[in-house]
Amino acid sequence: MTIDLHQLALATIDRAADELGLDGWVRALLHQPERVVTVQVPYTGDDGRIHVVAGYRVAHSTARGPAKGGTRFHPEVTPEEVMGLATLMSVKTAVMDLPLGGGKGGITIDPKLLSETELESLTRSYARAIASTIGPDIDVPAPDVNTDSRHMDWLADEYARVTGVASPAVVTGKSLAAGGSLGRDTATAAGCRTVLLASARRLGLPTDARVVIQGFGNAGAHLARLLAADGMRIVGISDSTGGIHDPAGLDVAAVARTKAAHGSVTHHDAEVVTNTELLALDAEILVPAALEGAVDTGEAEHVRARLVVEAANGPCTAAADDILAARGVAVVPDVLASAGGVTVSCFEWQQNLAGQRWSAATVADRLDTRMRAALEDVWQVAAARSLPLRTAATVLGVGRMAEALQARSGAETSELAS
Ligand code: GLU
Repeated sequence: MTIDLHQLALATIDRAADELGLDGWVRALLHQPERVVTVQVPYTGDDGRIHVVAGYRVAHSTARGPAKGGTRFHPEVTPEEVMGLATLMSVKTAVMDLPLGGGKGGITIDPKLLSETELESLTRSYARAIASTIGPDIDVPAPDVNTDSRHMDWLADEYARVTGVASPAVVTGKSLAAGGSLGRDTATAAGCRTVLLASARRLGLPTDARVVIQGFGNAGAHLARLLAADGMRIVGISDSTGGIHDPAGLDVAAVARTKAAHGSVTHHDAEVVTNTELLALDAEILVPAALEGAVDTGEAEHVRARLVVEAANGPCTAAADDILAARGVAVVPDVLASAGGVTVSCFEWQQNLAGQRWSAATVADRLDTRMRAALEDVWQVAAARSLPLRTAATVLGVGRMAEALQARSGAETSELAS
């Protein structure tokens, strides 16, 4: 982690709290996660030895419903990062008006160095360690960076073994066979596509606009494919090893094949660029879909896009955000642009609780409706209060959380406020 994501999340919340004139006690509750759990995660290596790494699960807020958020496996995971990401999840679920709070989990490990058996041992061990703090009505994990339906299936299975509670609603992002939802794997990209196209239209950008996508994981790869099918030109793509550029537009399916075959997009037949060069490419739209802190001041000064859509969590630092605003670049913030995943996670949780299975068309339709409604809400707050989109989104989300906190606190509130 290159930036202090927790500080970034708190600064964003404070800006909204100032705008809303929130009481000190509400701010204090928004600053402090409800629960921070650090666990030891022993797992068996293929060498037969026991290895021990650190794991975390943070429930930032359950004011609007059970805590909700992904689980990240990355060598640079820290408790502060997980707290920051959990805080952003509370804002995200509130912006989307989902009946959920915010949480996040992580393990400090490089999963690319582990075999499938080691990954399963690690994930099951983590599930046992956090089993007493999660649950369908308490805190519901999901995938995040470097985790997918395999990990979620192991988590759900181990939770059922340990607790005896066989509820698939304890985890979302599961495989279809284990109770997952249709459309969950592509949900982050699909939700991002909806807000990107609607925002591009508002700004009067051409329908065949040039797009640069930083990151070729679950969000970036699916988004590149969807936008190319929409007629947009994907002129730059990168992954953790570097980027590629083709002003005429890259063949996204071919890039995906190259990445699958050789492990990196840079083996594709196109001009190779650094990640910094990628962010400065000539294009109308830039989508940071990798890790937090990817766009800092140095990068922000050279961004040529008119629209930045944050498919990752926390990709623009606060200082970069100010530079982009001063340069007239519109930024659709992470709490909105990356909310498709948690929205379909919410659908999965609701289907599990109700014992239902929705069709792919129902999921796609409801996701699209939710994303459009949230985007509309955010633009309205931005226009009414003359705010940049990030502050407007945070004002919306934090306002909804504050309302829930105030309503729930009742008599105690007036006592605290007096
Ligand atoms: N990890 C995703 C996010 O950051 C999804 C979380 C979820 O589905 O609960 O929004």
